[in-house]
Amino acid sequence: MHLNRPALLFPLFASLTSLPGIGSRLSAIMEKRIGTTVIELLRHAPASLIDRRARPAIPDIIAGQMVTIEAVTISQDITPRHIQRPSRVVMENETGQITLVFFRADPDYLKRVLPVGERRIISGIADMFQGQVQISHPDYIISLAQSDEMPLLEPIYPLTAGLKAKTLRKAIQASLPKIPDLPEWSDPHFIAQHSWPDFKSAMLSLHAPQSLDHLDPHHSARSRLAFDELLANQLALALIRQESTVQGDGQTQAGDGSLREALIKSLPFSLTNSQETVLDEIYSDQAQPARMMRLVQGDVGSGKTLVALLAMLNVVETGQQAALLAPTEILARQHFTTLAKLAEPLGIHCALLTGGAKTMAKKAVMAEIASGQAQIIIGTHALLTDDVNFDQLGLAVVDEQHRFGVRQRLLLSEKGKNCDVLVMTATPIPRTLAMTAYGDLKSSIIADKPAGRKPIDTALISLDRIAEIIEKLKGKLAPDQRAYWICPLVEDSDKSDIMAAENRFAQLAKLLPSANPMLVHGRMKAEEKEAAMSAFQSGASQLLVATTVIEVGVDVPEASIIIIEHAERFGLAQLHQLRGRVGRGHAQSACLLAYQGPLSETAKARLTIMRDSNDGFRLAEEDLRLRGPGEILGQRQSGMPEFALVDLAAHGDLIAIARKMADAIIAKDKELATPQSAPYRLLLSLFEKDNAVKFLNSG
Ligand code: ADP
Ligand code: MG
Repeated sequence: MHLNRPALLFPLFASLTSLPGIGSRLSAIMEKRIGTTVIELLRHAPASLIDRRARPAIPDIIAGQMVTIEAVTISQDITPRHIQRPSRVVMENETGQITLVFFRADPDYLKRVLPVGERRIISGIADMFQGQVQISHPDYIISLAQSDEMPLLEPIYPLTAGLKAKTLRKAIQASLPKIPDLPEWSDPHFIAQHSWPDFKSAMLSLHAPQSLDHLDPHHSARSRLAFDELLANQLALALIRQESTVQGDGQTQAGDGSLREALIKSLPFSLTNSQETVLDEIYSDQAQPARMMRLVQGDVGSGKTLVALLAMLNVVETGQQAALLAPTEILARQHFTTLAKLAEPLGIHCALLTGGAKTMAKKAVMAEIASGQAQIIIGTHALLTDDVNFDQLGLAVVDEQHRFGVRQRLLLSEKGKNCDVLVMTATPIPRTLAMTAYGDLKSSIIADKPAGRKPIDTALISLDRIAEIIEKLKGKLAPDQRAYWICPLVEDSDKSDIMAAENRFAQLAKLLPSANPMLVHGRMKAEEKEAAMSAFQSGASQLLVATTVIEVGVDVPEASIIIIEHAERFGLAQLHQLRGRVGRGHAQSACLLAYQGPLSETAKARLTIMRDSNDGFRLAEEDLRLRGPGEILGQRQSGMPEFALVDLAAHGDLIAIARKMADAIIAKDKELATPQSAPYRLLLSLFEKDNAVKFLNSG
């Protein structure tokens, strides 16, 4: 489906350079944070408000207060710029005296704007110095005639380096008159019920907050716009959902069950109830002619890999291929080992394709994939390159936090002719976020873990006690046990973090020689990483010092201790994911969160929740509350919808409503083709920055 931009909206899609004060240089600066068009600028909401309405009598002023004063200059003590001592100008009105203070100011300027005997309006933050009221570098110094130039209420916008507040404000003010009168797209009863303004009024009031209350996400204008944004998102997802269902004709996967039965018989345990339920949902999707697009969520250690394998076997039973996409080379390799061990005894040929493999080996694997000889293929996104051709791909499983967007998921499924897609998340995600980010997918939840898993003992300890931590580890690391030592890594390229990890490794290697510590981080060569991992897996090494490359999915059941250094630098989801590396075997496991104080309030809250809860679903909700959605799955993710006006923690309730409405709208008019659907097309165009909507617009 392609949306033509309605002519009515053209003024809103004008480039930012059409606005006063914005040339190509500024527009380039604004592109990343704000966008390139007028409508994107209008979605840039103020984060705060300066209120200059207070005009107290001078003796009533308190330190830190934003005040506006009308007074006459009575004396100047102006120092040349190169002198340390600041310039001072004393002003007076009928209530008292106030001193203006300027550091390194231009003397000519001061004499010009504050001439002795003249009356001026001054506005700025007041402070107290030796019992005197003063204002350092007032925001405004204007004559009475100019008083209109000073806004009494000034919205404060998030800025980008190089962009001045005043310029941004002016540009937004100039954008507001471009908003046309638009027909209402939402149900008028629903709008009336909430006492929400129409779209245009909501935009105008968004940019003209009258008090701090107006900045609250629950304020009527903000709620209205958030709902519009959510409805656009849900409409786009609903369109994609129904489109992918309609298109995916022909592929029905219903194997005879022989391979699956044999696999289950070979396992030393039986499937959990949740695994069975989720598999039933998957098998039933697979049996439908429509393309499967399903999300499987399960807490760490809930056994997602096995679910994936069984879904793949169903496809292999019909003579087709199945692929599993892992986010890192280490994980791809591990999945390959695990899956091959389970599947090869059943006579299934598994293949591994990663970017790091040698060209010759790669070519051989690619030939096996193309001929159909390889039945289960495991790989990194190297699998998605154009030169990889499948014989008959029936199912693509995407494991763990690829953070693919709607677009990539559809592209992936086009690798096989509309093949089924199963997405598995590494950690549970909050319900609200799942609905917006994965709303194009149906969802399954593995609600319980294999029986007998003991909760992991989690403790907090200050990094100042590092010697004690190492000593403790020494005592606990019995010969049959294994431990992870995690060092934080903000970005792959951060040298100082790599050095910190290397130093820690050197120290541990010296102090715990019998554990034969190994180091693994993202900057190492694939072979080096592999050597370290396999030494740890086999038990030749008992201590793996690692940066977060091991974060997701590594499965070494013998590991029962994990020490996370600088735990305050990780998000909740990430900490939970890391902690999930232990507690996979029979031993009672322990997790030590070693933090560097002083802790911020949020960091303290995060670590306390980690200590007190082992439940990934609960942690995910807390994470949303504490950090906001942008950061939930790490830093800004390509696959996550970027909302401008929605605050998922505050507007969660609106999502379900938007989803219901979107479904009802699409049920009536599958392509939004009738004249009655025209307002929805307007809405979708207005919010096309969002991933799902953008995908629709790209046709
Ligand atoms: P995750 O959901 O975190 O990806 P895995 O798939 O890695 O979890 O499984 C964690 C561990 O649990 C593996 O060692 C796996 O063999 C084991 N496991 C999976 N299903 C069951 C089950 N039904 N009963 C007992 N152990 C299981
Ligand atoms: Mg896994």
